[in-house]
Amino acid sequence: MATVLYDRDANMKVLEGKTVAVLGYGSQGHAHAQNLRDSGVSVVVGLHEGSRSRATAERDGFAVHSVGDAVQNADVVMFLMPDHVQGTVYRESVAPNLKKGAALAFAHGFSVHFSQVEAPKDNDVFMVAPKGPGHLVRRMYTEGRGVPCLLAVEQDASGHARELGLAYACALGGGRAGVLCTTFAEETETDLFGEQAVLCGGITELIKAGFDTLVDAGYQPEIAYFECLNEMKLIVDLMYEGGMGWMRYSVSDTAKYGDLTAGKKVIDGRVRETMKALLADVKDGSFAKDWMLENQCGRPRMKKWMQQEKSHPIEAVGKELRAMMPWMDAKSAPDA
Ligand code: NDP
Ligand code: MG
Repeated sequence: MATVLYDRDANMKVLEGKTVAVLGYGSQGHAHAQNLRDSGVSVVVGLHEGSRSRATAERDGFAVHSVGDAVQNADVVMFLMPDHVQGTVYRESVAPNLKKGAALAFAHGFSVHFSQVEAPKDNDVFMVAPKGPGHLVRRMYTEGRGVPCLLAVEQDASGHARELGLAYACALGGGRAGVLCTTFAEETETDLFGEQAVLCGGITELIKAGFDTLVDAGYQPEIAYFECLNEMKLIVDLMYEGGMGWMRYSVSDTAKYGDLTAGKKVIDGRVRETMKALLADVKDGSFAKDWMLENQCGRPRMKKWMQQEKSHPIEAVGKELRAMMPWMDAKSAPDA
């Protein structure tokens, strides 16, 4: 069984008198900075020159410094800028200013696990990875609740890295929901695999394949949208609340029979083999290398693919239908 820790297991005293530098003020950054501050921790925010987030952080009442200045006085340095820039920021701005014995902290293991950040041996390196998006990490905290977190220690120079990491996770609100102990390798590999095969990649292709099949067969795109995308949320909510059993209990017997006869034909042996191959690419670093190279040359393929995705008919029909549901707080992604 996995070790799960809660507020009662933490020694919050280890954060007393310490300063946490939160580097980056995006999805996770704003939540970490504000939750920690509300938990009584001293927080400074570090941002790069010309950062668009600076005004937001200042409006939220934080002293905003350059990354180097924020790091200089910090006892804990939390990396909350995008994963692909962490290596460069570390080498250029963090390492030259790092206090002796300061801890390096991460919300995802990518840059440490794939050697983008190679910390000196006398610094602690830990991870507190909330299992939820940043706005929820903040909102749940303000409601007295919390998003579960993963905790891992890569380097324990002080002998207290795990204690410090747990206190950080609890200051973030994670100890109210549960803090699961893991390793950088397990967190990074499962996270990358999950977002590729199931969560982001898997589900969008599944939905589009269903939508295209219906539309190509002459059915109305609006019907196809409700069937394949809108209803996905209702089904996932049921699984989230009570597992697959609760979902199957809730749908009709006909739906249940269809589920049991067809599901394995869609996600067949070949799909499972593909998943294994994706996991192998994650584990041996091929995916990480590909992603870093894509960034280094200005994301040419990613820009093209994003444009193609944007012009898929499901996006246009979805936008129209969501606008007809006034109770829905419909969102629209800004142009990249
Ligand atoms: P965002 O893209 O939302 O925010 C990035 C922030 O970093 C922005 O404030 C950005 O400023 C700033 N930034 C960009 N470049 C630099 C730089 N060179 N120096 C300092 N700051 C910089 O990132 P996320 O919050 O999504 O991700 C942060 C980390 O959290 C990642 O490791 C990610 O894997 C992890 N994570 C994210 C989750 C999420 O919910 N999004 C969930 C769990 C973990 P600007 O406004 O100028 O661009
Ligand atoms: Mg991820």
